[in-house]
Amino acid sequence: MAKRDYYEVLGVSRDASQEEIKKAFRRLARKYHPDVNPDDKDAEKKFKEIKEAFDVLSDPDRRQQYDQFGHAAEEGFGGFGGFGQGFGQGGFGFGFDDIFEEFFGGSPFGGATRTRRPNSPQRGSDLRYDLEITLEDAAFGLQTTITVPRTENCDACGGSGAKPGTKPETCTHCHGSGQQQVVRNTAFGRFVSVRTCEACGGTGTIIKEHCPQCQGSGRVQRRRKIEVKIPPGVDTGSRLRISGEGEAGLHGGPPGDLYVVIHVRKHKIFVREGDDVVMEQPISFVQAALGTELEVPTLDGKARIKIPEGTQTGTVFRLRGKGIPHLRGFGSGDQRVRVIVQVPKKLTAKQKELLREFARISGEDVESGEKGFFDKMKDAFSGK
Ligand SMILES: [Zn+2]
Ligand SMILES: [Zn+2]
Repeated sequence: MAKRDYYEVLGVSRDASQEEIKKAFRRLARKYHPDVNPDDKDAEKKFKEIKEAFDVLSDPDRRQQYDQFGHAAEEGFGGFGGFGQGFGQGGFGFGFDDIFEEFFGGSPFGGATRTRRPNSPQRGSDLRYDLEITLEDAAFGLQTTITVPRTENCDACGGSGAKPGTKPETCTHCHGSGQQQVVRNTAFGRFVSVRTCEACGGTGTIIKEHCPQCQGSGRVQRRRKIEVKIPPGVDTGSRLRISGEGEAGLHGGPPGDLYVVIHVRKHKIFVREGDDVVMEQPISFVQAALGTELEVPTLDGKARIKIPEGTQTGTVFRLRGKGIPHLRGFGSGDQRVRVIVQVPKKLTAKQKELLREFARISGEDVESGEKGFFDKMKDAFSGK
């Protein structure tokens, strides 16, 4: 069968940039990767074709040779510059994880096929879960259940992919190595290259009867409920690692970890500053002038603060230990209460009269607005 033109395979123009080639490959690989299409021979063939085209076009030297000689470059000069320069040295050579590298947590399908040796155990991918909590939860800790979609080993076949009661058999073509030697006699001599075993796709085993639950992939998607304990003192961006609750490993490899990333919701009263919480408390000018005792909210109930006589606006009162516990070490931050003295906006005639009286007693000329209390004091001392 004649090979298709590599540019045509990737659907790019002949002067496509490396970035365009990479993009085209990723787009197609997502569609045809064997992890997404288990047991689909056509997709597998397509994937190999895409991969081959990408291998050549993404390598500037090989691309130049291909541009000049076409497929003959690959056939004739296959051994040029060393053996094994050909395609697929074990597995598909390019794992699903690579395609999804831009996503945290790796492949959503759990396929870690970046294999040198096809059946070696591989650790599963880490997962990330974003959890929104209240400021109170951040202060006092929280125990909750989250639901995490993840890949797990199929429990019907134990992850082998073979129908329960049967076992995957060693591939007779490659004797389990997953690789095939290909000898080519060309006008330039004899070349040996190693490529992925076509019979087993590089896994080294053949499954005669597929497990009906996972269709032979050995893996299933589950929504798993997981208990998490958030310690007191966390803040937005805090990460909790829950060991072994990530995606399942491959070929008996350990599972990945689950990272719970904390986001603390905005509070309607408090603003967090480090481990302190800060709030504003309006008071009347009478309270500020005469002093009073106030009840203020805290993260766990209410507390009283004493406002002394003559308190100015902006004064900060501190409630020790009423903030957020330190995540590391002992103790807690404070609650800071900033008082804002409010000037009354609507006054009755009677109230106005009383304020004028107040001003008169203070020696303040309110009506003219020209000389204030301090000016009058100055005048008094200078004898004007
Ligand atoms: Zn299964
Ligand atoms: Zn094989």
